[in-house]
Amino acid sequence: MLTLAGLSAAPGERAQGMVTTKVTGVEVQHPLFLINGARPGPTLVVTAGIHGAEYASVEAALRLGQTLPADTLQGQVIVLPIANPAAFAARSIYVTPPDGKNLNRQFPGAAQGTYSQALAYWLFDQVIRRADAYIDLHGGDLIEALVPFVIHFPTGHPTLDQASTDMARAFGIEYVLQGNTPGSAYAAAAQANIPAILAEAGGQGIWSEENIELLHQGVRRVMAHLGMIESVPATTPTPVMLDRWAWLRAESDGVFYPQVVAGGQVSAGQDLGRVADVFGHTLQSLVAPMDGVVLFLVTSLAMNKGDPLLAIAG
Ligand SMILES: [Zn+2]
Repeated sequence: MLTLAGLSAAPGERAQGMVTTKVTGVEVQHPLFLINGARPGPTLVVTAGIHGAEYASVEAALRLGQTLPADTLQGQVIVLPIANPAAFAARSIYVTPPDGKNLNRQFPGAAQGTYSQALAYWLFDQVIRRADAYIDLHGGDLIEALVPFVIHFPTGHPTLDQASTDMARAFGIEYVLQGNTPGSAYAAAAQANIPAILAEAGGQGIWSEENIELLHQGVRRVMAHLGMIESVPATTPTPVMLDRWAWLRAESDGVFYPQVVAGGQVSAGQDLGRVADVFGHTLQSLVAPMDGVVLFLVTSLAMNKGDPLLAIAG
């Protein structure tokens, strides 16, 4: 029997429903899908919506949860498509409304912490820890344009790191990178000895069929790689493995005039744009620190000190 937060599915069956938990005394309702395979195998946990306005990822997880059959599945799949319901309802960029924190920097969380820290604790302790393999889906936030990519978090344990790298390759998205953001759900999972990846496609509030299916079929390709389903949907490009990336951040409040687009190739020393004050004076000139591809680009004119501007990977 597969049971989570009061929802149960017998072998060969599916269950779906809203489950309720309390976070800092506040009642939180999560939609949850449990797909319990007819035959034994690994447990895969899939989350989306840790960032509430990354819609391609949320819709991909909903589609997976609604359509994955139990009778042909080997193992168990737990799908939590809206991991941060308050941020989803508020259409919030980056942060969770009750405490203004980025949920994807709080893992593995703290039971007695703030709202985001306590939510991260519940997600990690009750859901993610159940996994033999973990996939966290993201979709570019409301103010981000990006090229699809997959990240894995190196821990220094060769077998675990190889398992995460193999999942990242199997996902079938063009760019594969090593992540460097502790506190992310996939990083905390890897540090808890669970092979884990973060996959990202979409952005700017748009949830195109192309990006939804890129993420949805990517999860299914990882399931085939893990031996949970037989068929591998669609052939994909050979991933480009990128081992370095650089984030550029705003040094002051202002307006942002990028000179590059997401997916564009840049050379070290190239002009990437500028942050200016509202009277046109340049406050920060942006220069490419390395050769590479523009992985993501913030597309809002408004810019706040400390916010990301863009990332280059190579
Ligand atoms: Zn995200």
